Amino acid sequence: MRGSWKIRILIGLAIVVFAFFRKCAMTEENPYTGKDQAISLSTEEEIAIGLQSAPQMAAEYGGLYPDEQMQAYVDMVGAKLVDNTVARDTPYRYEFHLLADPNIINAFALPGGQIFITYALLSKLETEDQLAGVLGHEVGHVLGRHSAERIANSEFWQTIAQGASVGADAGNVVAGIGQNVLLGNGRDDELESDDLGVRFMIKAGYDPYEMIEVMQILKDAAGPNRAPEFKSTHPDPENRIEHIKEAIKKYGG
Ligand SMILES: [Zn+2]
Repeated sequence: MRGSWKIRILIGLAIVVFAFFRKCAMTEENPYTGKDQAISLSTEEEIAIGLQSAPQMAAEYGGLYPDEQMQAYVDMVGAKLVDNTVARDTPYRYEFHLLADPNIINAFALPGGQIFITYALLSKLETEDQLAGVLGHEVGHVLGRHSAERIANSEFWQTIAQGASVGADAGNVVAGIGQNVLLGNGRDDELESDDLGVRFMIKAGYDPYEMIEVMQILKDAAGPNRAPEFKSTHPDPENRIEHIKEAIKKYGG
């Protein structure tokens, strides 16, 4: 009996050590942000996951907004941000979707370049620069590879939890990705995306101070009776303002 426990503990330790070293081996420097990240997906896989998940995400927000002129406006601002910044040099396929939902204030990005904004949020924005702020932030999540990093992290914990799933094929792993893993950005991701968003705004000729206005709009929208939907993907508008101001100074806006 005692012997078998020892063996189990040894196997458990071996799995933890294996998972840890695998994670270290997966660490690479993000060429667009300079950040070291553990990434298990190729950029092609990131793009595929985004394209695969996009229709379901759109459906959850009432599908695409029916007015093509409004969609064209979103496309135009998105294209300005991509064409004038480092985003253009990335392998990602950026697509900006306006969602029909008139109530839920939200914007989010799937890995690989699928970016979404709800009509509810768009209708709160007062200027093109503010829209550029929202979209620029989401482009930041894409080239910051934040979803991919969370996927690698959840695989790490799965390996430890399941032990035997070490050789699990990528298909199974992808099937097991929940929305939390895809969209649940942490505080560091948010701050990096704000930083990148400001950088892209300045490069594309937009007024980066409008990003602060966006934070104000989000804060006001998060009244006591509001569903905290945006909070689940974008925490803390309040504390982000100081970092945005620093980024504006850093990039000379
Ligand atoms: Zn975000």
